[in-house]
Formats: sequence, C-alpha cells, structure tokens
Amino acid sequence: MNVLVINCGSSSLKYQLIDSETEAVLAKGLCERIGIDGRLVYQKAGCDKEITEAAMPTHKEAIQMVLHALVNEKTGAIKSLDEVGAIGHRVVHGGEKFAASAVITDEMIKTVEECNDLAPLHNPANLIGIRVCAELMPHVPQVGVFDTAFHQTMPPKAYLYGLPLDYYKKYKIRRYGFHGTSHSYVSKHAIQFLGLDPDNSKVIVCHLGNGSSISAVQNGKCIDTTMGLTPLEGVIMGTRSGSIDPAIVEFIAKKENLDIAGVMNVLNKKSGLLGMSGISSDMRDLEDAAAEGNEDAKNAREALAYGIAKYVGGYVAAMNGVDAIIFTAGIGENDNLVREDICSYFKYLGVAIDLEANKKRGEDIVISTPDSKVKVAVIPTNEELAICRDTVALVK
Ligand code: ADP
Repeated sequence: MNVLVINCGSSSLKYQLIDSETEAVLAKGLCERIGIDGRLVYQKAGCDKEITEAAMPTHKEAIQMVLHALVNEKTGAIKSLDEVGAIGHRVVHGGEKFAASAVITDEMIKTVEECNDLAPLHNPANLIGIRVCAELMPHVPQVGVFDTAFHQTMPPKAYLYGLPLDYYKKYKIRRYGFHGTSHSYVSKHAIQFLGLDPDNSKVIVCHLGNGSSISAVQNGKCIDTTMGLTPLEGVIMGTRSGSIDPAIVEFIAKKENLDIAGVMNVLNKKSGLLGMSGISSDMRDLEDAAAEGNEDAKNAREALAYGIAKYVGGYVAAMNGVDAIIFTAGIGENDNLVREDICSYFKYLGVAIDLEANKKRGEDIVISTPDSKVKVAVIPTNEELAICRDTVALVK
C-alpha cells in the first residue's frame, strides 16, 4: 500500500509518499509560504528536486498541487490517486486523550480540537490538513499520529508539576512530552539493533535537533521525558532556552519592559544556542566558531552537552540503570564531538566510546567499545516511516 504522510504547519506542509511494503520513499517534498505566495518543492525518488512557484492562498491549493505533482505524467511517482491507500498525518498534541495513533473520524477530529489550546499554533494547522485531505480524497482512510502519544505511559510522579493540583484538574497542566514518534521509533529500533530484551530493557533516547528532547524508555515504555506542557522545557535548544528558573520571566519583563508574550518570544526564538552564542542556532556554525576560539560558542556547546548529561544521569537514576544511550536527529546523528562530550560524563558507569566509530555518519552505528558497560549508538530517526507504519497497522 502507498501511504501519503503529511505534516501540516501553519504556513508550510511537508509530505512523503511511501510504499509501505518496501518502505521506499517514492516522492517527497514540501509546500512553503502557504497564504503568502507559495512554493512547491517536489522530488521523485532518484530524480532532482523540482521547484514550482505558484499561488497557494490556502492549504487546499497546496495539497492540490502536491496531488497533481504525484500523478504528473512525466515526473509523477504514481499514475493515479487510486494508488494512494491511506494518508497519515502528524498531529502535535493529543493531550491525555490519545495514547496511540487513531483512525480519523468526525468524533476523533472533535477530540483533537479539544486539545487545541494546548498547542494553539500546531493543532489547528494539523486539522486543516486533515480536513482538506478528507475533502479532496474522501474515500481514502486517514490516521492521526500524535507527538505526545508515546509519552502517555509516564506515571504521575513524572508528569505532575509542583503546582496546585487544581491546575492539572481544571486545565490539564502537566508534562506531556513531544517528539514521541521519534522516541518510539528510535527506542524500538535500538532494542532490535542492539539485541536487547524488549521486556527487560532500559534505553535513553537523546533526540537532539533544532528542538531537542530526551526520554527514558523502560521495557519499551516511556517513563519520563524532558519536554513538558510545551516544547519549551528541557535541554538547551537551537533558539529555545529549555528549563530556566521561572522567576526569570518576571525579571526579564521588568528589566526589558516586555509583556508576557514578549518574554515568551525571547525564550522561544532568541535564546538557546542562538542567544548564548550571539552567532547562530545551528550547531555547525557554533562548532566552526568554537574551533576558531570563540568563547561564547564554546560555552554554549559545553552548556548544551552538560545539560543533556544531567538529564541522562537523572534518567539512569529513574530507571535504576541503563542498557543503552541512543543519539538521534540533526545534532545527535552528526555532531560526534557533542556525543563524545556528553558520554565523557558517564565514565563512572563504565561508558567507553570508540572514537573512530563515533566519526561515522548516516547509518545505525554502535559507538561504544565492545567492553563498554553501557551500549551507546547512533540511530537515524525516521518520523515519516513511523507514521506510515502506524497508518498501515490501523487501516489494514
Ligand atoms: P528539527 O528539530 O528542525 O527537525 P534537525 O533534527 O534537522 O532539526 O536538526 C537540525 C540541527 O542539526 C541543525 O540546526 C544543526 O544544528 C544540526 N546539524 C545538522 N548537521 C550537523 C552536523 N554535520 N554537525 C553538527 N550539527 C549538525
């Protein structure tokens, strides 16, 4: 079955058409600047990218363009839309309502809408994609795959904040966690790849990209994660501060004469690696700057690794041990120096890194030495494939 995977944002839309039997990507791309002007990037497997500038006043025109590109006579990946067997959508927030992916029905859409105030920027955009696909391809089954679902197995001691309980009861303020599709895919893959016992395993997944989160996965189930009510909590990220003393919010507001929205903008868009280095949110730029002796870039990289190590250490305690530490996403998959720095904090656990293996890229690799007491590996994440697999499992 061919599955169209859609990740719909407020002004953009990423897509992949995947053959679920071979798990090959038949075509992929994105629509950008929806509602502004419009640009379609389309790439059939084995071919060059095609870029088309065309008006996309709404997501409907964007998805129509994607569908046209997929069946285009010359460069299409399929002959007819009948060859699309199902559509899988990324949905950011499922609140406490969804602990797993779900087939999209009118009732399911209503339940997702009830979670909208937990992710006011993302969920409404995800729902637009779902509605437009239902309108354009009414006979194709659709599935929603939630960023939060994998973390729903956390116990209350991990998800409750030290706040008045009424706020949890009234407003559902609690830790939800994000990147769940990636944490689920990577932890399962790690258990297989490393030959661990699925029912007796302790795995820590470090998903380190522009947005970063870490999760503790015991016997295949998430027991804790670093992101919270929103993706702002946890480790230092590209432009997000991660966890800080909450009193800093009031302090900055007074000193900089900002309202709450202004401070949140600083914490979400001007902090993290960008804010700390004053150079860039991209680790590659910081690596270059640090190598040239820039102290701020060096401190930002060290603070990122130190902060991650503290969470990883916390999760070793939470699980009373660890079998494997896994790195994934842009930084996790590519930045061997950061991996080395993080692992250097775990020599006391008997973690030993093979520096040559740690330089490899682009594949599943064990980067620990054979005698390391804890296995350390790099496993490239693949959220689209995870969405495709969940979709097929639910519609078959
Ligand atoms: P997103 O969270 O947007 O999905 P990614 O997982 O693609 O982000 O990660 C993006 C980040 O990965 C970049 O900002 C960059 O810092 C980092 N990155 C990518 N390639 C490298 C590399 N070769 N070395 C170090 N960092 C890298």
